[in-house]
Amino acid sequence: MNTMHRDEIAKCPNCGANINLKVGRYPGGINDSGGWVLKCNACASLFPLEVKNPDDASSVLSGATIIDSWDDEINNRAHTLAKHGVADTGQVVERMRLVTHGEPEGFYNLESRALYRCTACGSELDTKAYEALSEHLESINSAFATYLNWYLANSGGQAPEGISARIAIACTCGRAHETRFYRNFAESFAERAEDYWLIDIAPTAPVSEGDKTLDVDGIFSRDDCIAILEKLLLRWQASHSAVLLAAPFIGFNFPGAKKKVPDLWNWVLKYTNPEKTLLVTRKATFNLLKEVAKGTEIDVEFLKSWGLLNPTLATLDKKKAFFKTDFHAKFY
Ligand SMILES: [Zn+2]
Ligand SMILES: [Zn+2]
Repeated sequence: MNTMHRDEIAKCPNCGANINLKVGRYPGGINDSGGWVLKCNACASLFPLEVKNPDDASSVLSGATIIDSWDDEINNRAHTLAKHGVADTGQVVERMRLVTHGEPEGFYNLESRALYRCTACGSELDTKAYEALSEHLESINSAFATYLNWYLANSGGQAPEGISARIAIACTCGRAHETRFYRNFAESFAERAEDYWLIDIAPTAPVSEGDKTLDVDGIFSRDDCIAILEKLLLRWQASHSAVLLAAPFIGFNFPGAKKKVPDLWNWVLKYTNPEKTLLVTRKATFNLLKEVAKGTEIDVEFLKSWGLLNPTLATLDKKKAFFKTDFHAKFY
């Protein structure tokens, strides 16, 4: 039977520790109402938590142990609680449902400045690369399906980091190049070419000295610099095991510019992988975020209290974080 899962966080009513749950539901099927007697891993207290399908589709991921369960249809809640000496105080457990919504996010922006140019004629290649990927997406997906069958049967849950595809393209001038695309591993198929990031375009042999497709040297506007960095961050995170991002100034500390600060941080977090990125910044820069993000969707204290803080920010929030104070900014 088809099961849909939703992530939830519940707080232990005694000590406030976060308990991560996976709540399962059978769409169009029979869903049992009931609950668990949970034992908090942090304080060892027992408490009841109502949940759908406690005996099969739902589970506790971390933070507590399931001691027992009840089923509302059998009407054994009171009996189950009494068996474990748990008082039914009717206290409501604080919980948060995590819902994913909205359009799938785009990463590689084809509207902004291109990153790659033809070595022979200098034409931009990024859009051409994505056109080629769209054309070949079906055959890439079917090759991935073969792998996925093997993976589901044999991997034992050891997931690879990413999926990479190479496609040959020709520039309008005739010069041949090889493109490389990447996406993070998922047990699902890419529905759109944009699900992949373009991470390289290289000229194919014969290559002469000085041939280079990556077009990043020069003097650019602020917007172009951001477009270039965005694309390079994707390339680095796909092809390297660690990325060091030194960003001393994220937003400026003057009136009016402050409301842009959360957007800038969201941008940094979107284009960096927390497991690979070391962000070097100034304490004042991080404190500015904490101040202006209060009450917004990246309220640092709020996210931290639910264990949802992006690990990159969580690292900065620890005392031992890597801060440098002797940066100097020069903007002309
Ligand atoms: Zn507790
Ligand atoms: Zn060309």
